[in-house]
Amino acid sequence: MTIGWCFDNTYSKLPDPFREKIDPVPVKNPELVILNKNLSKELNLDFSNIDNNKIAELFSGNSLPPGSNSIAQAYAGHQFGHFTMLGDGRAVLIGEHLSKKKDRYDIQFKGSGKTTFSRNGDGRAALGPMLREYIISEAMHNLNIPTTRSLAVVKTGEDVVREKPLQGAILTRVALSHIRVGTFQYIAARDKKNELEILLNYVIQRHYPNIQNSKNKAIDLLKVVMEKQINLVVNWMRVGFIHGVMNTDNMSISGETIDYGPCAFMDTYDPKTVFSSIDHLGRYAYCNQPLITKWNLTRFAECLIPLIHNDQNKSIEIATETLNSFEKKYEEKWLNMMRDKLGLFGSEDNDKILILDLLTWMHQKKTDYTNTFCHLMGLEIDQNDKFQDDDFQSWKERWQKRHSLNNKNYEKCVKLMRSVNPLVIPRNIMVENALKDADKGNFDSTKKIIGILSNPYLEQKDIINYQAASLSNKNYKTFCGT
Ligand code: AMP
Ligand code: MG
Repeated sequence: MTIGWCFDNTYSKLPDPFREKIDPVPVKNPELVILNKNLSKELNLDFSNIDNNKIAELFSGNSLPPGSNSIAQAYAGHQFGHFTMLGDGRAVLIGEHLSKKKDRYDIQFKGSGKTTFSRNGDGRAALGPMLREYIISEAMHNLNIPTTRSLAVVKTGEDVVREKPLQGAILTRVALSHIRVGTFQYIAARDKKNELEILLNYVIQRHYPNIQNSKNKAIDLLKVVMEKQINLVVNWMRVGFIHGVMNTDNMSISGETIDYGPCAFMDTYDPKTVFSSIDHLGRYAYCNQPLITKWNLTRFAECLIPLIHNDQNKSIEIATETLNSFEKKYEEKWLNMMRDKLGLFGSEDNDKILILDLLTWMHQKKTDYTNTFCHLMGLEIDQNDKFQDDDFQSWKERWQKRHSLNNKNYEKCVKLMRSVNPLVIPRNIMVENALKDADKGNFDSTKKIIGILSNPYLEQKDIINYQAASLSNKNYKTFCGT
């Protein structure tokens, strides 16, 4: 019985500095925890006739599929503003799989053992964080936000030592590619223009073939990546997603959300929300995400300088002009996104004030971000007296007046709102509790959460058990690199 792998590996054919050829380090006793059937179907992979032991052998890297060719990719990155040489220290890309539609996907094992780039790390990952990435990345996908996906998690049967011994696990991550801003930084730091050209051409051919014949490919790449990243961060702001570690090595050139370390969803509306235990200064706080996106794009632009124009000053001038359009583009998209959240069609001069007044009220009254929009859609989740407040009532009158300008009935407005406001998000305590059960070998609650989060815009049986704001915790802390 064949699974349907169709590998066509192109990145591994790039020159040596781009990657190290290396196989995953075998593990002792692999055991399948979860396999993503929906994603398998999208990839045209069929595991229905393969027994779980064989699947575990496969997704642990103990037996590699025919046609794969494992590599660890080299990259660099600004981590909290500081430049470092990095690379896949605990992951290998086993190859690029083509679906029947010829869509190309990186298949990567995360937690697969040491590589040249491991520095002091053990190359391994623990069960909790890998399952957490599975839950949240799949939730993001179902929220209609570009993201890497999760195909499988296996336990390795080996312990990994963190603050205490934890069960080891490997996640199979699926991505349009794993090329990052940091990949460009790595190559640019080597200061060989021909290598930079190879990367530029590779990326354009793979992700943006429509600019292949453009007059200035480098500046056009900056423009398309900027557009993708603005769309992405606007989506994050829409659902209250806080990435937590927006280092340049965690920004994908394809525009997918990547690297689910310390991420978490904001509950109580507070623009300064930070969950990551190491983000002491709030560099990656909710409200800073657009600013950091621009900062990272500026680092990307710096890499491209030698390719934009022969005259360096001219090159900087051209790149700066592009980067300067960031704020206007972001604001326009953010405003439209917020209009959708409020069911506002068209645009009116006072829309921005209306939106900001609601956000200010939410901040002052400490209301739950997701559930406030549910309330506006007529769905009561937390019995909340805050909505009786005079300020809120008068804001609501202004909002309803604005609706009357739409020439649309309330039903149409709600339909628009229902398409962008999730009824359920991965709440911190709820995910944490599921991971505790999983650690004890019980995966029922993990699977139940994944099921509920697969339809975040629909009312479902039992959904109410997953919506309460109390399933979050103000003092919640997240950790990365575990
Ligand atoms: P991250 O914080 O996940 O973006 O990872 C930053 C860098 O640390 C990347 O180069 C990772 O490959 C590397 N890294 C994270 N955890 C480990 C580990 N356990 N062993 C080796 N390298 C790691
Ligand atoms: Mg990373």
